[in-house]
Amino acid sequence: MPGDRIVQVVWFKRDLRIHDHQPLHQAAADGPVLPVFAIEPAQWQTPDSALRHWQFAAECLVDLAEALAGLGLPLCCWQGSMLALLEALKTRYGHFVLHSHQETGNAWSHARDDAVAAWCQTNAVSWHQARQHGVIRGLTQRQQWETQWETLMAAATSPAPPRADPADGWENFHHVSLTALTALSLGHDQTPCPQRQPGGRQAGRALWRSFVQHRGRRYRGSLSNPLLAWEYGSRLSPHLAWGTLSLREVVQSLRRQRQKHPNDPRWSASLKAFTSRLYWHCHFIQKLESQPDMEYRTLHPALRGLRERDPQHPRLLAWQQGQTGVPLVDACMRSLSATGWLNFRMRAMLISFATFGLGLHWREPALHLARLFTDYEPGIHYPQIQMQSGATGTNALRVYNPLKQAEDNDPNGDFIAHWVPELTALPLDWRRKPWALPTSLRQHFGFQPGRDYPLPHDFEPEARHWKDCLYQLRRTPQARQQSQVLLGKLASQSATKGRRRSSRRSVSSRQLTLFVDSTHAEED
Ligand SMILES: Cc1cc2nc3c(=O)[nH]c(=O)nc-3n(C[C@H](O)[C@H](O)[C@H](O)COP(=O)(O)OP(=O)(O)OC[C@H]3O[C@@H](n4cnc5c(N)ncnc54)[C@H](O)[C@@H]3O)c2cc1C
Repeated sequence: MPGDRIVQVVWFKRDLRIHDHQPLHQAAADGPVLPVFAIEPAQWQTPDSALRHWQFAAECLVDLAEALAGLGLPLCCWQGSMLALLEALKTRYGHFVLHSHQETGNAWSHARDDAVAAWCQTNAVSWHQARQHGVIRGLTQRQQWETQWETLMAAATSPAPPRADPADGWENFHHVSLTALTALSLGHDQTPCPQRQPGGRQAGRALWRSFVQHRGRRYRGSLSNPLLAWEYGSRLSPHLAWGTLSLREVVQSLRRQRQKHPNDPRWSASLKAFTSRLYWHCHFIQKLESQPDMEYRTLHPALRGLRERDPQHPRLLAWQQGQTGVPLVDACMRSLSATGWLNFRMRAMLISFATFGLGLHWREPALHLARLFTDYEPGIHYPQIQMQSGATGTNALRVYNPLKQAEDNDPNGDFIAHWVPELTALPLDWRRKPWALPTSLRQHFGFQPGRDYPLPHDFEPEARHWKDCLYQLRRTPQARQQSQVLLGKLASQSATKGRRRSSRRSVSSRQLTLFVDSTHAEED
């Protein structure tokens, strides 16, 4: 109607906060605000969706609704497709403006956003999409990427608006009450996660406080050990994935913290290492943004078609159930299933074992892990999966030997004992490889390999086979040319230099052993 201010719709996605939320800030300045979260059934039925993601998100939404109420705004939880919501908004308001953050999601969300963009264009609705990460849309090469990341992270955060006017008629768009959110049945994977991290900004802030006040001092040196990383890692990942904390506010807070400990080398080293991870967060998401088919297609053309996908492969099922017969692998899978979290090194080992040690295609294992990670972030997940399974064809091949990983990162066997109780009674050496328990001792320990715990697949020759195979395929002139194209598109300048260094290292280590256990796991 003439004279009326245009309704400003704020579409919350994976940015469930009011602080440093530029779309909300802008909308509140421009007119009456309608904050909405769309619960799209089709999205929750994709094969990478799971109950734990929804429950975490639902807790974040309850927290967000409370924060919005403090500004005088409702949170509308719409159940239905985004296109149906847009039609309903058009019917109710005639004209409106749409605000959101840019999202680098899975193929489903990518296609949905394309459809929303087309709808907005057809209906002359402006859709303002702000950046929340250091990811650049439409980027063709990585020069200057690092500089722009710094600029974005150094820019002032958007304060939450003190008050905002709610749009009339918001009740029409609110389908699901906050109390019903968590129990909503959306048809996703139902694996329970009894020890999942709680969602919501308050939980995220509490984690951050404890990290910078005391836990973070031991960050460096704890990352590879699954028990220590649980305690001394930041554990912020689901909060960054669902945006209860903005990456920029964490980066800025971190920089203030670094100034507080100038003379404590342990704090300095830890906070420096942590800063790199925040940079990698966007560096990896940029890869999926630039190459969205990384989600479902082997990145390097020379390595495609090597293995068949088989969702019923017995070795895949055993791996998914934590029943491979390799104790550290099974402990990791069972722990991940129950808690929704695992440290970087053990994630890398799980996918490396599935693809090299068990000879599986990476795609089914990737989907399984996506469903188990509460912090599932497609832009980190798929590039990491491809890298750790050797599918990028450009990174040094890292094949993690679970026996060596157990020696290095579970030195007392406590992690295995906790998650694989069948092995608790065995002395340390055999707890790591129970199949080797001498026949003479089996009766003494009341343990029969194959009866009390599965016998493993012969994973060392299998891994050697795949590793050799990948090296051969990468070596042809055509494959080398394809590698250069991929590097030009997806590697940052500094990452490329690092890669060259690590390639030289890997040549010499290859001469020593074919089953290299890389110590450079966290480089790109
Ligand atoms: C196969 C595989 C799949 C992965 N999938 C995901 C995923 O879906 N979601 C996810 O958030 N992380 C993923 N990671 C990266 C990493 O393992 C987790 O971010 C980390 O374990 C989360 O714990 P934290 O928050 O305590 O991390 P911290 O070590 O405290 O790091 C802080 C933040 O930096 C980012 N970060 C840390 N390590 C990396 C990395 N190597 N690459 C990119 N960003 C990083 C994360 O946002 C993390 O929360 C994956 C790693 C592998 C090997």
